[in-house]
Amino acid sequence: MCGIVGYSGEDEAAEKIYRGLKKLEYRGYDSAGIATAGNPTVKVEKGTGTIDEAIDSISEAEIDGNVGIGHTRWATHGGVTDENAHPHRSSSGAIAVVHNGIINNYEELKEKHLSGHDFRSETDTEVIPRLIEEKHDELEDFHRAVEAVVEMLEGSYAVVAVKDSGEMAAFKESSPLALGISDGELFLASDVTPFLEHTDKAVFLEDGDVVRIENGDYTIKNSGEEIEREVKHIDWDAEEASKEGHDHFMQKEIKEQPDTVKRAVFQDRSDVEEAIDMIEEADTVYLSGCGTSSYAADLGAKYLREAGYDVISEQSHEMEYWNDHVTEDDLVIAISQSGETADLLSMLGDVDAPVLSIVNVVGSTLARKADHTMYINAGPEIGVASTKAFTAQIAVLKLIAETAEASLKEARNSLIDTAGKIEQTLEDNEETVEEVSDYLQDQDHVYFIGRGKGFEVAKESSLKLKELSYIHSESFPGGEFKHGTIALVEDGTPVVAFMRDEGLEDIFSNAKEAESRGADIIGVGKENVGDFKYFFDIPEDENSEILEVAVFQMLSYRTAVKRGHNPDKPRNLAKSVTVK
Ligand code: GLU
Repeated sequence: MCGIVGYSGEDEAAEKIYRGLKKLEYRGYDSAGIATAGNPTVKVEKGTGTIDEAIDSISEAEIDGNVGIGHTRWATHGGVTDENAHPHRSSSGAIAVVHNGIINNYEELKEKHLSGHDFRSETDTEVIPRLIEEKHDELEDFHRAVEAVVEMLEGSYAVVAVKDSGEMAAFKESSPLALGISDGELFLASDVTPFLEHTDKAVFLEDGDVVRIENGDYTIKNSGEEIEREVKHIDWDAEEASKEGHDHFMQKEIKEQPDTVKRAVFQDRSDVEEAIDMIEEADTVYLSGCGTSSYAADLGAKYLREAGYDVISEQSHEMEYWNDHVTEDDLVIAISQSGETADLLSMLGDVDAPVLSIVNVVGSTLARKADHTMYINAGPEIGVASTKAFTAQIAVLKLIAETAEASLKEARNSLIDTAGKIEQTLEDNEETVEEVSDYLQDQDHVYFIGRGKGFEVAKESSLKLKELSYIHSESFPGGEFKHGTIALVEDGTPVVAFMRDEGLEDIFSNAKEAESRGADIIGVGKENVGDFKYFFDIPEDENSEILEVAVFQMLSYRTAVKRGHNPDKPRNLAKSVTVK
């Protein structure tokens, strides 16, 4: 899950790695660390907490050298302690390693090859530097030792290793790793954001790749053979990956949506047509994702059904248990912000059907594995809870469905029109957002109800509120609420109802049923027809789910801030969930 960075160049490595890690902090923030090499030893500074907590100050830290590695951790094996923080060192301390992923066979490796070792941490990772050192003693060559160890590892990993001599190597299987190429400098990182400010040239490493970095140059081997990988040009703006005066990335990313929704719908005609052809040709179309992306999948299923297609939507971790029903004549539409979601990739691993991916991160594993990829072009999303990526995902799904039903021009214009209303809608609801966040910050439970697409908006709004503010919240179809959960409603229980045109009368009744049992009802829609305690005004719009979601992103954001939480880094979460 974590973020890793490697640097080899002419500048102080620690400085550059520290800046790079800050860009990756969204991937994990249990602990952090940096190691430098080549001057002439390996020096390590690491500890628990965020990068700033773990590494006091780079200038004070005595970690000099022009080669180095860094890590920000989301713990999988071993608690959040200083000892378990990466980088991990070999027994002599001459080799240091950072790792993203899980080594499945680490216990077996310890038993078979490292029986005399006195391990310093409880992590799965520590076997890697120790094994490299053992192999180095045998082969007397760092890079050959690394290649030998790669053969022994099972699991998912992106690893960067350094030796006291200043030699550096990297290898990957299932976890992402990109190589950034600049004049006289090479970077390795879990995604491109750490090196965007230095270079826009990157190689996205493939599974099985082993990279050797020496004298400012690199070579890549796969299955023992030296190979060439395409150097790609990344057109993400480095500025976009910074907060630009906002208190939090999340706030900035919510406000970027007028642009990102527009960007999402400027897809090449041929890409949209290819997606439609794939859908038309398929016996059954499955949509799948996890978390917020799974709600995009559910909404996408509703859009495609309206366009006349039979589709099924299922969260990837559950779909894995029945995906043997999916045949090569079907289609899976796979949705992910990062393109690295382990549950989704694992489910796809067993499926014969072609895959259409809808993804944000360029060059991600999903994008590379899919038969056809549509990038949502939302730019780097740093806030852990997805905002602009979600609205861009649903914009792309709607673009496909409505192009199939009408025309690309109509579909695009309708979504551009919606994008143009986001800013005003947020502004018009600013006061209500303040009032309702004041009210919600003292609540223990919140229920969200909606019908039709309002149910997906309810699911996404509820998830956003709970993951950021830690207030217990749940979402239901309006019709379902009275079949059980309404028993929990008592005086003053907040119930949010999305009052969309689909089933308007019925959702109104559902809100009233809650109110008559004491609920404080909060409405969202075109007009406050009932006596809602609070009401969010959403303008008439063909894609009003985008506007409703944007307002509730802001509400969740404000509630989290008022409760004293950092909305960019909700506890226990990480941005791209690269473990199952
Ligand atoms: N499995 C390793 C650990 O728990 C790496 C986790 C990560 O990817 O952050 O330390």
